[in-house]
Amino acid sequence: MTLLDRAQSREITGEIRQAAEAEGFDAERLRRLVASGRVVIPKNVSGNASPIPIGESVRTKINANIGTSADYQSVSEEIEKASVAIRHGADTVMDLSTGGDLHEVLEKILDATSVPVGTVPIYHAACGRKIDMTADDLFNAVRKHAESGVDFMTIHAGVNREILKHLTAGSRILDVVSRGGALTVAWMLTNEAENPFYSEFNYLLEIAREYDVTISLGDGMRPGCIADANDDAMFQEAITLGRLVKQTRAAGVQCMVEGPGHVPIDGIGYGVRTIKHLCDDAPLYLLGPVVTDLAPGYDHITSAIGGAIAGMYGADFLCMVTPAEHLALPTVEDVKEGTIVTKIAAHAIDLAKSGVRERTLSMDKKMAVARKNLDWDAQFECAIDGERARSIHETRVSSGDTCSMCGELCAIKVVKDALLKRSG
Ligand code: SF4
Repeated sequence: MTLLDRAQSREITGEIRQAAEAEGFDAERLRRLVASGRVVIPKNVSGNASPIPIGESVRTKINANIGTSADYQSVSEEIEKASVAIRHGADTVMDLSTGGDLHEVLEKILDATSVPVGTVPIYHAACGRKIDMTADDLFNAVRKHAESGVDFMTIHAGVNREILKHLTAGSRILDVVSRGGALTVAWMLTNEAENPFYSEFNYLLEIAREYDVTISLGDGMRPGCIADANDDAMFQEAITLGRLVKQTRAAGVQCMVEGPGHVPIDGIGYGVRTIKHLCDDAPLYLLGPVVTDLAPGYDHITSAIGGAIAGMYGADFLCMVTPAEHLALPTVEDVKEGTIVTKIAAHAIDLAKSGVRERTLSMDKKMAVARKNLDWDAQFECAIDGERARSIHETRVSSGDTCSMCGELCAIKVVKDALLKRSG
């Protein structure tokens, strides 16, 4: 039986109990959320990943993408990226490798991490072949990843022949920017055939069920620029994904849904709510949304703005975006910065998220008290990036116990001293 089957049979599994404890959450309530599909706990039956709940009423989670490319194939650097991301708050890691010995990279990443690991098997099938892959190549890649212990997989099953009509009839500037979506579209056009992940979705579910892999239904039609946001192709895919969510849950397999890429801030609420509604409140996993196309070099910030707003409308899982987005394969430093910025967005969401608000607020209260006490060590301990906070503070020290911004005119100190004088 899969984790979903067991939750639906009213069993509080070890994974559910452990995840509930880590969240400070009632185990029975978490079981009900898992049973309904509103929370997923990605965990391969043979894997050792810590159970991380993703979805409604639990802390907003973040994923870090790592992986080699054809031009940069250092396995040790990708492992370093994974450990830096986890150290700075990544709850999961996705191996998106497309260069070198893909299986070796994946095995090493699985060995080196204790968080759930995700992949996009179509990359594996396409490497060295591009679109000259067969349906068997796709399913073999899925099986190979499942056997290796991968906990969740992005599958672009919603990209089908029907959606191609919306794509070709529409007026998009950037046709397809999802790598998996693009490979699928090109394969369908070249072979004049249906996407095997769509036409043989039940076979995919059989494999997922055998290894209890969580399916992340990819958004191959995610808009790649602000002008294409919330268009027909995106919503048509979301309608298809909604049907696939039901099919996936009926097979006893957990699933999430991936969401839009570039969206102006006034379109985020509408887009997120519509996808959640169409997909029966399946956990929503977002890359971005990037809120302007004009900030290459700063897309970790454009994405964090979009992610924070999306979280207010129901996004549950944010994919880290680095400053290298749209420009190059990220470095270790890019991954660190992207993870921290995404963590800030997730924390901002949780300060307003039902179910986790109180616990999150207590962390901010602790910081406020440390600030009031001018207790710098306590402030660095509370900070999302205490290392950077300490380094800035200690670069330009103050002669007193304040910081060098206001010195003796420190607002906190001035009022504190005045209150003390009056009382005593
Ligand atoms: S010196 Fe100014 S900036 Fe620094 S802690 Fe006091 S009030 Fe804040």
